[in-house]
Amino acid sequence: MRRVSIFGATGSIGQNTIDLIARAPDEYDVVALTGASNVAQLAADARRLGAELAVTADEARLPELRDALAGTGIEAAAGQAALEEAADRPTDWCMSAIVGAAGLVPGLRALRHGGTLALANKESLVCAGPLLMAEARAHGARVLPVDSEHSAVFQALADNDPGAVEKIVITASGGGLRDWPLDRLAQATVEEAGSHPNWDMGQRITIDSASMFNKAMELIETHEYFGTPPGGIEAVIHPQSIVHALVQFRDGALMAHLGAPDMRHAIGFALHWPERRDLPVDRVDLTALGSLEFSAPDPARYPALDLARAVIAGGGLRGAAFNAAKEAALDLFIGGEIAFTDMAPRVEATLNGLERRGCLDADRITLDMVLDTDRVARALTHAP
Ligand code: NDP
Ligand code: MG
Repeated sequence: MRRVSIFGATGSIGQNTIDLIARAPDEYDVVALTGASNVAQLAADARRLGAELAVTADEARLPELRDALAGTGIEAAAGQAALEEAADRPTDWCMSAIVGAAGLVPGLRALRHGGTLALANKESLVCAGPLLMAEARAHGARVLPVDSEHSAVFQALADNDPGAVEKIVITASGGGLRDWPLDRLAQATVEEAGSHPNWDMGQRITIDSASMFNKAMELIETHEYFGTPPGGIEAVIHPQSIVHALVQFRDGALMAHLGAPDMRHAIGFALHWPERRDLPVDRVDLTALGSLEFSAPDPARYPALDLARAVIAGGGLRGAAFNAAKEAALDLFIGGEIAFTDMAPRVEATLNGLERRGCLDADRITLDMVLDTDRVARALTHAP
C-alpha cells in the first residue's frame, strides 16, 4: 500500500486526484486530506477513502468538520499549524493542490520526509522555486510536475540530454476572452473571464487563463523546473488544447506531447510514474480533429507574458513579488474593485515600486524573505 496525502483535496485538482485513487482503493493508504471552506466534501471524501486525518484551513469550520466525522475514528483538525502537521506525516506520494501561495509551506514541509511531491501548486515554484528544489535535494525527495504543460515537457524530454534542449514551447488556449475585441476587454465581468473553452478548472486559474497570467506563471515555472533561460521558453496560442508542450532539441527535432484536455492525465502520470497505467481519459482522434492551430500571442492583449520574462531574467525575489501581486490583483478584480485590464498594470506597478526600493535582489532566497516579499507586494497592489 502506498501512503498518500492530498492537499487541496476539495478543489478541482484534488477531486480529480481522488477520482483516480478511489478507482484502486486497495493500492492506497490515505493519510491526510485537506480543504478550506468545503467541509462537507472534505468529510465525505475522508470517509469514503478511510483517511487518517482531515484538515480544514478555516479554523471556524472545525466544529462542522468534527460533527461530520463523528464516530468514524478519523481525526479532524483546522488551521495553518494543523496543515503543517498534516504535511509532516510521512507519505510516499503527496499531491500539492492548494490554490495560491498558501500551498508553499505545506509543500516544503512534505518534502522533508522524502517521497514524491506531485506539484499542481505552481505558485510555490513561482514564488520560491530555488528554495523548493533545494529542499527536495536535501531530503532526497522528488518533485513531479502536475501542470499539464510541464508534465508534457517532462514526458517529451524523456531520457534526452537536457543540455541538448534548444527551446521549450508551452501552449495556451488563449482563455475565455481570446476572440473579444481588445477595446471590450476592460468591460469583461468575472463570469465572462471565469469560463474556459476547453478546461474545467477552479475559478482563479480560469480567470488567469483569460489574462494569460496563468501562462506567465508557467513561463516562470518552466524556468524553475528545467533551468531554461527566458529566451529559450516560448508560449504559443493553440485553441484546441491538444498539444500541451513541445521540446525542441539542437538538431531541430521537436518532440510534442498530445492528449485530451483532462487533468487526470497529468495527475495520473505523476501518480504512477515511472510506470504508465491505464487512465480514464478520452483518446485523441486526430482525423476527427482534422487540424491543430497555433499562433503567437499578442503582447497588447496579454501583457502578463512580458512581465514574466522580466521576472525570470531578474531572478531573486521577483517571482515572489510577481505571484503575490498577481494574486492581489485577481482578488481586486473578483471583488469588483478593478477592471480585467487593470490587473497587469497593477502587477507591473508593484514590481516597479519594489524594484525602485531595491527590495527584489537576493543571491539566495529564504522562506522568511519570500513571505516578507509576499506580504509587502500584496499590500502595495491593494494600495498603490
Ligand atoms: P480550486 O480553487 O478548485 O481548489 C483549491 C483548493 O485549495 C481547495 O481544496 C480549497 O479548499 C483549498 N484552499 C483554498 N484556499 C486555501 C487556503 N488559504 N489554505 C489552504 N487551502 C486552501 O483550485 P484548483 O484545483 O483549480 O487549483 C489548485 C492548484 O493547482 C493551483 O495552484 C492551480 O494553479 C493548480 N493547477 C490547476 C489546474 C486545474 O486544472 N484546475 C491545472 C494546473 C495547475 P475549499 O475548496 O474547501 O475552500
Ligand atoms: Mg497549465
